[in-house]
Amino acid sequence: MADDLQDILIDRDRIAARVRELAAEIERDLPPASGGEASVELAFLPVMTGAMIFVADLIRCLPRRLRIHPITASSYPGKAVRSVGTVTVSGVPEDLSGRDVLLVDDILDSGRTLSVLQEAILAQGPRSLRTCVLLRKNVTRAAEARCDYVGFDIPAEFVVGYGLDHDGLHRNLPDIGILRTDAR
Ligand code: IMP
Ligand code: MG
Repeated sequence: MADDLQDILIDRDRIAARVRELAAEIERDLPPASGGEASVELAFLPVMTGAMIFVADLIRCLPRRLRIHPITASSYPGKAVRSVGTVTVSGVPEDLSGRDVLLVDDILDSGRTLSVLQEAILAQGPRSLRTCVLLRKNVTRAAEARCDYVGFDIPAEFVVGYGLDHDGLHRNLPDIGILRTDAR
């Protein structure tokens, strides 16, 4: 186990198995890929940077045509381990009208990030909007955010690894673990 982790919460094998299941669930709910309509192309919106490893694995389990539009959102400046009130987003595409959109984030915590993004996307009138998160933290949410696909429900701990960071570090750990309190 990496030195800065107190415990491994979800190991790489469980993550890999669940990512394959999530892709199958997502695929099942989308309109058939052979429909011939331009709109069957999926607009795939990953929230950077935390979702990068998750989406790299997820898209390779999704065989359909998709176009990736990375979005940047940040609500944890530097070393903070609690979400602060303001969310800064950029990169939301402006051509989502009539399209099937999949918004993907690493973790649902306060709900602020996803609620801001969902509102901005829905305002454009997409044909469908679904949201997928790898982790959903068991906390009282400050903002309402709908999630259609959830990888794992986790306790209210600060976790790192598999793309999730603390102050920019630990994204490269292959397992998801709880950060030691003295490493925060
Ligand atoms: P929310 O807006 O409070 O739901 O926060 C969502 C964002 O905060 C996620 O996309 C993550 O980037 C970050 N975040 C929330 N909890 C954690 C955590 O336990 N570890 C690392 N990043 C987190
Ligand atoms: Mg994030």
